[in-house]
Amino acid sequence: MNPLYKKILWWEQVWEFWIELAQTLEKKDTIFQLADFDYTLFSRDEQLEWVPDLQKNRGDLGPLYLFQRYGMTQFLKDYYSDISLPTEILSRLDSSRDIIMTAGGSKDFQLAKVRSCSELDKFRVVVTKDGFEKVPELIRHVLFELRYIPSEIIVYEDRPQYFIEYREFIEKILWTKLTIMSVEMDGNDGYKKIEEV
Ligand SMILES: [Mg+2]
Repeated sequence: MNPLYKKILWWEQVWEFWIELAQTLEKKDTIFQLADFDYTLFSRDEQLEWVPDLQKNRGDLGPLYLFQRYGMTQFLKDYYSDISLPTEILSRLDSSRDIIMTAGGSKDFQLAKVRSCSELDKFRVVVTKDGFEKVPELIRHVLFELRYIPSEIIVYEDRPQYFIEYREFIEKILWTKLTIMSVEMDGNDGYKKIEEV
C-alpha cells in the first residue's frame, strides 16, 4: 500500500472496503462539486483592512480577540452577514447537490461564518479539522451521503495542494475524474483567477 494512504486510513482494510463499496454504487452522468469557504467563496481581505487589530492576531485568535470586544453575534453580523459574495463560482454551484467544505480550528466558528452568509443558506456545510482531512471527507461524502458515483467531481480551492497530492487516490477509489480549480479572489469583488490545475 502506498504510504500516502496510511496517513488517511485508520485501518488498511478501509481502502479495500471503500473500493468495493464504490463499485456497488450507481454511476450517474452528473457532476458533484465542492467549494472551500475562506478565500474561495469569501475573502477576508476587507475585514483585515477595516480592523487592523485582526492582522496582529492571526488565525482563529483574531476573531476571538474581536468576540471578546464586541461579542460573536455582532462580529458575524458586521463582517459576514452584510457582505455580498462574488458570483463567478457561486453561480456554478447547485445547492441541492453541491456542498461547501471548510477547515478550521473552531468548527463552531466555521459553521457560524458560513451560515451568516445568506447567499449560502441552502448549501450543506461540512467542516473538517484541517485542509488534509478534506480528502477522506470528500470520499466519505460521496460513498455515504451522495451514495452514487458522479462522472466528475470539481473542487474549488484557494489551497488545493492536498487535492493535488491525493488526486490519484481519490480517482482510484471513486473511479471518477477529479477536476481541481485553483482559485484566487480579488477581495469580495470577484476573482483574479479560477483555473484548472
Ligand atoms: Mg480557503
